This record gives sequence, C-alpha cells and structure tokens, in this order.
Amino acid sequence: MAGTKYIFVTGGVTSSLGKGIISASLATLLQSRGFRVTIQKLDPYINVDPGTLNPYEHGECYVTDDGAETDLDLGHYERFLGVPTSQDNNVTTGRIYQTVINKEREGAYLGKTVQVIPHITDEIKRRIKLLGETGEYDIVITEIGGTVGDIESLPYIEAVRQFNWEVGASNHLVIHLTLLPYLATSGELKTKPTQHSVKTLLESGLQPDILVCRADRKIPRDQREKIARFCNVTKNAVIESLDAETIYDVPLLMLKEKLDSVVISKLKLSSKTEPDLTNWRHFLGLLKNPTAEVKVGLVGKYVELQDAYKSIAEALIHAGVENECKVNVKWIHSEDLEQGNVEQKLRGLKGILVAPGFGDRGIEGKIEAVKYARENNIPFLGICLGMQCAVVEFGRNVLGLEKANSTEMDPKTKYPVIDIMEGQKSIKNKGGTMRLGAYPCKLKRGTKGYAAYGSANITERHRHRFEFNNKYRKDYEAAGMIASGINPESDLVEMVELKDHPWFVGVQFHPEYKSTVAQPHPLFAKFIGAALKH
Ligand code: GLN
Repeated sequence: MAGTKYIFVTGGVTSSLGKGIISASLATLLQSRGFRVTIQKLDPYINVDPGTLNPYEHGECYVTDDGAETDLDLGHYERFLGVPTSQDNNVTTGRIYQTVINKEREGAYLGKTVQVIPHITDEIKRRIKLLGETGEYDIVITEIGGTVGDIESLPYIEAVRQFNWEVGASNHLVIHLTLLPYLATSGELKTKPTQHSVKTLLESGLQPDILVCRADRKIPRDQREKIARFCNVTKNAVIESLDAETIYDVPLLMLKEKLDSVVISKLKLSSKTEPDLTNWRHFLGLLKNPTAEVKVGLVGKYVELQDAYKSIAEALIHAGVENECKVNVKWIHSEDLEQGNVEQKLRGLKGILVAPGFGDRGIEGKIEAVKYARENNIPFLGICLGMQCAVVEFGRNVLGLEKANSTEMDPKTKYPVIDIMEGQKSIKNKGGTMRLGAYPCKLKRGTKGYAAYGSANITERHRHRFEFNNKYRKDYEAAGMIASGINPESDLVEMVELKDHPWFVGVQFHPEYKSTVAQPHPLFAKFIGAALKH
C-alpha cells in the first residue's frame, strides 16, 4: 500500500532484551499520535507455528481471533494497542518454507532452481507487505526474532535489505536493540558489544537507523556520542532503555527518550499532535498506587517458567488495576499438590485460578485445588483444562461418579464427563487442528458470567480438543453446577458455574487473550473483585 511506512526491529548482543516490549511501546506512542499501527513478528524457527511447542521451550502459545497459534509477543502487541492481530502477524521460517515448497510442487517455479535467494527472501518480503497492503495501517512494525549473527536469521536480514531498497528512503527504518553491559571492575558501561553487533548487521548490508540500548544504569552523554560515532547513527538516535519496574512503564520511558519523535522525523511523517497518553497514565497511576492487596494462587504444571502463563499473569495485573488493588500471585505446581498437604499449601489464598494445559501430568493436583476452592467457598476461575478439572471434580465428589474423568486423561473412564469433540475424532495431525480462535457464546441471564460481561452475546477465543459432555448436563444442573454459557450454533458448554458458591466460574475459552490495558477482562476483574471480598 503506497504510503505505508515500515519499521524493522532487530536484536543484537543477547536474546531477551525485550524487542517485543520495545516494539509494542513504540507502537503505543505512534498510535497515541493518531497513526494506525500494527506489529508483526517473524520467527526464524522451523515449526510452522508455535502451537506444537512445549511451553517450556518458548513460553505461552497465544491465539488470535482468526485462530492463529502464535508467539507470545503478539499478546503484548494486543495488550498495548488494543487492536486484534491475525494469522498475518506471525510468520515462521517453517511457514515460509512450507509455502515455497508447496508452490514448487504445484509447478510455480517450473524449470528453475528453487533457492534461499530469491525464493525464500521473496516469500519473506511478500509476508511483510501483506499487512501494509490491507490499507488498514499507516505504519507496520516488523520484529525479527532471534539475534543478528544467528545462521537462521540471515534470510530475514537479507529480505529486509532488499525490501528497504525497494520501498525507498524514508519509507523504512531499522531499529536495533543492544545491550550495554556494566563492568564493575572498570566502573563503566561497555559499548564494544554494540559496535560488534552493528558490524554484524552491516556485513549483511543493513545499517541501523536507531539504536535502543538496554542498560542497568544511565548512559553518560560521552558514551552515547561514542556509540553514535562508531555505529554511524545520529546522536539523537541512541536511545537509552533502562530496566523498568513494569513493562507498562516502557512507553513513557521511550517517550522521555523521544523515540517516537526520532522515528517520525526519520520517516518524514507529519504529526502535529503530541502523544495523548492520558488513559495510559491513568492505568499506570492505579497500577502503582494500589489501595489494597490480594493473594491468589495460580495452579499449573509449567510454573517454573512464568512465560508459560504470560497472558494470564498480565490479565491478573489488569484486573488488579480495575479493582485498585495489587494482585500477588502465588505460583503453585500442580504436581506438588499431588504430594498431599493441600490445605496447608492453599491456605490463605483469596482466590484460586486453575490454568490451561494438555496431558495428564499434574492433573490430580489441579483437581485437588478445585475441590479445595469449591468446599471452602474460595473464588475460583478455571480456564480451559481448568474448567474441565472443575467438571471432573464435581462429577466425582458431588454427583458420586466414581473415577469420572476427561477421556484425554483416561480414555476408558466409565464416566467421560469431558469428552473429545465430535469434529476432533478423525483428526490425526497435530499442527493447527484444534478448535481454534473466536467463537460466539450466549450467556444465561442471572448468572455470574452474565453479570461480568453485562450482556448475553460474547465471543471468546478457544484452543482445545475436548469438551463438556452434554449427556451429563441435566445431572450437573440439577446438582448445582450450571452451564451459564453455551455456543449458540453447536450447543457446546463454554462456561460453567456453581449456584451455591460466592464466585466459582469455569470457562472452556481463554479470556486471558483478550485482556488489554484499555479494557481489562471482565471475568478476571470479577474474579479479583470476589477475591477481595473473600
Ligand atoms: N487439553 C484440553 C483440551 O484439549 C484443554 C486445552 C487447554 O487448556 N487449552 O481440551
């Protein structure tokens, strides 16, 4: 699309410098000036998408409305911008190669040798252009995963080099993130790793326009000048990025460093307005000045790596802001609960959240947590597998269905209260084959679900193969667990709750994916509200 500007974000020196947060923060600043912005992530691994990755490998798998299983950075993009992302916002090397190889089989390159250059790089460029061509965005920010110098990111860097040449000057920018380590013995921040990583970029033909330098202390003026001189960027293009107290501080830190102004002038964009961050500052004000505290437990099997539950953790922060309280999360390993002493391990919690997951590891521990919450009137939120555990627990301990289970855990159970969805039975392939993305749900009036959303018709995102078994619905409802949310087309149960409990809700969907700074998710907000009252 003519007029669209492209910003590329690369990383150097080390991984984990926070490219995703910098990209989201810059986008927030540009959006607050009135530009329409989206962010895309290019991931250099060979999985077609991260849906087949264990969360220990790469953190949470985020899901978009249109059912893409994506990198968790897309969650940051949506939480910061409040604009939905899509299949086109996350592309992996696997997907690029899959497209090119399929085309080769179709004969699209007949007679030609199919090569990294030009075929793979052309496909990368096509994917970058796709978002611009929708006409929906003034600025597309493309974050390139990994660290420059990695063998696997070379085709991406080359594609960006060509792309920039094609779109011409002032239509593109390269922002390079680096680290300035502090050496205690010499008492200074070192610039050499940054110089080397810029050199590596240059070897591939890319000159960065802006350097965002992560550091644990202020970068002295002479160091900034040194970086500018030896990395060949303007002095105002050396941006300091200090460790922040919260990721939600970063847009304001970048504003202070004038990152948005530098970008605007280098891209020759006209922006008369100053960023309007009133709402953002309001959110931060509440986040930093809570009037109460509440402790909730998050029960999961990947708790050693908190990135595995990124969106849930952020949604809890948003819900805290909504309730003007600080949410302290106790991370509880579900396998640990299987060792006994459940009461002692969960005592004192004002709310219990049972997390999503796959497979049977730690499942009995999750069921124990549900039982404790139900019996002790502790506010409870069960998400996806968490809801399924709530259904199993109720079946076993209230309805007396001995060894009731999900057929995912026990295919031979006598009481399959959670069962595989009809449409899933014949599916053998693992990648992208679950029930994925947004589906409508109708809420019953007078339920906690309805009270939270304030309306009957909602849509939420899904990622699962198993479902509440409707054969048991009557028995459950008669005993006090009601189906408060139903898919109007398929009649699948999307939400359950207990009648005689202060706040006990299980959802088959993932509300955490839709919680944003501007709109904290109502279910999380009510869950924390109930926890505060407990
Ligand atoms: N394993 C369960 C299913 O496939 C739950 C999935 C989840 O928690 N995302 O239905």
